[in-house]
Amino acid sequence: MKSDDVFDISKAYSDDEMKRVFLQVQLKEITLCETCDVFFKYVPQKRFCDACNIERSKASAKRRNEKVRACPKLWAKKAKQKREYDQRPEVKAKKREYDQRPDVKERKRRQRKAKKNED
Ligand SMILES: [Zn+2]
Repeated sequence: MKSDDVFDISKAYSDDEMKRVFLQVQLKEITLCETCDVFFKYVPQKRFCDACNIERSKASAKRRNEKVRACPKLWAKKAKQKREYDQRPEVKAKKREYDQRPDVKERKRRQRKAKKNED
């Protein structure tokens, strides 16, 4: 099968380069990303390059988030979980410590001031 929109890799690289790449693939030094046709260092069970992995995890987080937002029941459950989590002593202590940081205090002061000027 021959098609114009199929990229012919043999035109972009010399035979020696192609041989070297195929040898590296055979030796499991590098492997091809399943979605973007980029070679990366071979790691067992790793199917996508780092850039694609980041993209995929962002996309799946977005899908999960949309699913929760679309369902009031799930949304309420998530809110309840967040409230309960925020009430934990170790979480409260961490928040208190964070709020005591000078840069955070300064930022909050500025935000309060800006809001006051808005009103
Ligand atoms: Zn990729």
